[in-house]
Amino acid sequence: MADHDVIIVGAGFGGMGAAISLKRLGLGEETRSIAILEREDDLGGTWHVNRYPGLAVDIASVTYSYSFEPNPYWKHWFARGHELKRYAEHVADTYDLRRHMEFGVRVEGARWDEDEQHWVATVSTGSTTGRTTRTATYLMTATGFLSQPRLPDIEGVQEFAGTVIHTAKWDDSADLDGKRVAVIGTGATAVQLIPQIAKRASALTVYQRTPIWVTPKADFRIPRALQTLFATQPWTQRVARRANSTWLESIMVTGVLHYKQAKLFNQAAAALAKAHLRRQVADPDLRRKLTPDYSFGCKRPTFSNDYYPTFTRPHVTLETTPISRITEGGVVTADGHETEVDVLVLATGFNLWDTNFPAIEVIGREGRNLGKLWREQGYHAYEGVTVSGFPNFVSLNSPYSYSGLSYFTTIESQMRHLERLFAELVRRGARTFEIAERADRAFLERMLARMDDTVFVQGSCATARSYYFTNEGDAVLLRPTSTASARRAAEQFPLEDYEYSADG
Ligand code: NAP
Repeated sequence: MADHDVIIVGAGFGGMGAAISLKRLGLGEETRSIAILEREDDLGGTWHVNRYPGLAVDIASVTYSYSFEPNPYWKHWFARGHELKRYAEHVADTYDLRRHMEFGVRVEGARWDEDEQHWVATVSTGSTTGRTTRTATYLMTATGFLSQPRLPDIEGVQEFAGTVIHTAKWDDSADLDGKRVAVIGTGATAVQLIPQIAKRASALTVYQRTPIWVTPKADFRIPRALQTLFATQPWTQRVARRANSTWLESIMVTGVLHYKQAKLFNQAAAALAKAHLRRQVADPDLRRKLTPDYSFGCKRPTFSNDYYPTFTRPHVTLETTPISRITEGGVVTADGHETEVDVLVLATGFNLWDTNFPAIEVIGREGRNLGKLWREQGYHAYEGVTVSGFPNFVSLNSPYSYSGLSYFTTIESQMRHLERLFAELVRRGARTFEIAERADRAFLERMLARMDDTVFVQGSCATARSYYFTNEGDAVLLRPTSTASARRAAEQFPLEDYEYSADG
C-alpha cells in the first residue's frame, strides 16, 4: 500500500485548491491520505516567499481570491502582500488543510512504478538523513510558474562587494536608507518596488532593458461600511467581482488572446497606458524611454500610479544603455560609464523554461521524462492539467493552463476538472486514469489553431522578451481562450477522454 493516496507538491493557492477539491470528494479524513509537501517553511507559496517593499497584488482582490471563499475584509482594493499571506492561512484553517502539510520537505522528483501502480517521490528535508522516498497513488504538482528566481547572466555579478538582493529573497535587514541603490529590471515586481526604494535611497539608478506597459491602478482603502456591506450582503461582493473580472477580461484576455477579432480592446489598453504616461511624465525624452515598442500584452502588463512619477524625482535615474559588467563597486554600461552603488537589487524575475516545466523531474510510463518530452516534442497538457504517458498525474502549472486573468480563475477551472475526473474514477470503481493520447493531441491542435488569433502571432512581440514564450519562441503558457470557455471546458470535457482501469 502506498504511503499516501495523494501527494500534492506545493502549499500555495494552487496546492491548497487541489486539496480542497480532494476533500470535497471525501478524501483526507485520515491525515496521511493527503500529503502536501512544501519546500519552504510555511504555506502561501509566492505570498510567503515574496516580501519585498511595496509587495501587493496587482489584480484587485475581489478577483484575486477563491470565488467560494470571498474575504469581505480586504483592507485595500488591491491587497498588500501580508494580507494575502493571512488569507492563505485563513483558507488553510477553514478547510482543515494544515494537518496535511509538511514544511521544509523538497520533492526532488517522482517516478511512476509500473508494478506497484503508484508514484515514488524522492524527497529531501535538508537533514543529515538525506533523501528518502514517499509513495502515493496520485501525484499533483502545484509548484507555481514563478518560483525559481533568475539571476542575471551579467559578467561580474558575483564580484560585487556591496549588498546584492534578489526580490524573491528579500533581506529585511538590508539597509537602504541614504544608500546608492541600483535596480536591474523593470517587470511587474520592479514597478512595485522602485517607488518604495526611491523613498529611502540617496540615489537610485534603474537599469531598464525592456519597458513595461503600465496602466492606472484604481486602488483605495476599503471603507468599513463597504466591508460590512460585503460581509452582510455577499451578493454585493459577487457583483464587484463580476464587474472587475469583466473589465480585466477585456484588456488582459480578450485584447491579448482574441487580438485578431478584438484589436480595438488591445489598442484601447495601449492608449490608456500611453495617456497615463503622458499625464505623469512631462519630459518627452523620458517618456520615449518608458514607452514599449511591442504590442500590449506580449508580456505581462501591470498597474501602478507611482511608478512613472518616481523617474521624475531628482535622485532617480532611468538608465537604458545596456549593462556591460558589474564591478566590485558598481555597474558599468556599454558606453564605459560606471555608476557606484552600495546595494544592487536584482528584480530580474524567474526562470520558467529551464527549471520549471516541470519544476521537479517526473518520470512516467516506460521511463518517459516529462521535461525532456516537452522540450523535444513540444509542450502540451490536456486542458492544462494532464499528460498522456503519465498515469495518475496532475500538473497544475502546465502549458496552456494559465487563463491570463487571475491565477484563481485558472485554479478554479482546474479544481472543477479534478473534481469531475476523480468523481468518475469513484463511479467506475477505478484506481488509475490516464488521458488518451488522441485527446491530448486533439487539445493541443485546438490550442495551436487558436493561437493564430493572439497578439503573440498577430501582434508585434519580437522585442518583448516575454516569459510567456519558451526558449524556442512559442507562447505556450496562456490558454488562448476566454476564461468562461476554460470554465465551460472544465465543466464539460468528455470523461471518455480518459482511460480508466481498476488496478492499472
Ligand atoms: P519579469 O517580469 O520577468 O521581469 C524581469 C525584469 O528583469 C525584466 O525587466 C527583464 O528585462 C529584467 N532582466 C532580466 N535579466 C536581465 C539582464 N540580464 N539584464 C538586464 N535586465 C534583465 O519578473 P518580475 O518583475 O519579477 O515579474 C514576474 C511576474 O510576477 C509578473 O509578470 C507577474 O505575473 C508576477 N507579479 C505579480 C504581481 C502581482 O501583484 N500579482 C506582482 C509582481 C509580480 P527584459 O524584459 O528585457 O528581459
